[in-house]
Amino acid sequence: ARSGVRVYRAEDDRNTPRRLAMLADLRTAVERGLIEVAYQPKVDPASGRVLGAEVLSRWFRADGPVAPDEFIPLAERSGLIRPLTRHVLETALAACAGWRRDGHELTVAVNLSPQMLADQALAGEVRDALRRHGLPAAALTLEITETGIMADPSGSAVTLAALRAIGVKLSIDDFGTGHSSLGRLADLAIDEVKIDKSFVRDVLAHPGRRAVTEAALHLGRALDLLVVAEGVETREELDYLRAAGCGAVQGYYLSRPLPPADFTAWLVTQAAL
Ligand code: C2E
Ligand code: CA
Ligand code: CA
Ligand code: CA
Repeated sequence: ARSGVRVYRAEDDRNTPRRLAMLADLRTAVERGLIEVAYQPKVDPASGRVLGAEVLSRWFRADGPVAPDEFIPLAERSGLIRPLTRHVLETALAACAGWRRDGHELTVAVNLSPQMLADQALAGEVRDALRRHGLPAAALTLEITETGIMADPSGSAVTLAALRAIGVKLSIDDFGTGHSSLGRLADLAIDEVKIDKSFVRDVLAHPGRRAVTEAALHLGRALDLLVVAEGVETREELDYLRAAGCGAVQGYYLSRPLPPADFTAWLVTQAAL
């Protein structure tokens, strides 16, 4: 579905009453600023230093939490992803400015749905928001999935170039799960790749996963990109990634995504180490 044209899909009509109720609640939650966030640290495995955090949306609906894998696609299909993303971006930049006032020189990473790359106003709003919070552009990383960019490479190009011109960092999320060639990725002028957690899990026991991980690390060295491994759950995975020269790790082994106050408390314990 390019440039906002909706394509009919049978699954759109499945569970209609439940979907419609959820959509109505999601609209209310977005309008009232009730979407919350969690922060998951990105850590340099060589030094143990905390580099920054990824912000992940959280929705606590009256009858329990709804997974982002459920409400983000709903927001993407209903026009709510723009106000949701603006809210998350604003929240994340305010938090990042606060960490820095407390002496933690961290970056913050926000996920961008592919639709956002068709939003001509995005780059200007990002620049204004950074300025308002007194943050350098390099404090913000925008994570975009490989499939999201490749769905409409020319449509994405203008916004990506505008974001790059501001100086924000661009990250390719879920690296290895799309169909893009390494050559096309190399043309994108990105700053970071995130190896998808499906390759990181039990990487040592699976030669294929190990090959993808090492290809990403090789690409990172050749193109001077930060390579981040997500979904690090064990000591063994961490030790392997450190030895392989991975620039940053993220995953339950280091920390789960944390509510804002818990993340701040976690930072203080890390700084004391
Ligand atoms: P993602 O961007 O690939 O984020 C990583 C997901 O892996 C998060 O799931 C995170 O909680 C989870 N994770 C982190 N460490 C581990 C680990 O060690 N093991 C395992 N098994 N999982 C781990 P979450 O929070 O459920 O988010 C799912 C997806 O929803 C995200 O995947 C992202 O694509 C999307 N999402 C979340 N928040 C936003 C948002 O604000 N905007 C957009 N556009 N998408 C979002
Ligand atoms: Ca991400
Ligand atoms: Ca990811
Ligand atoms: Ca993902």
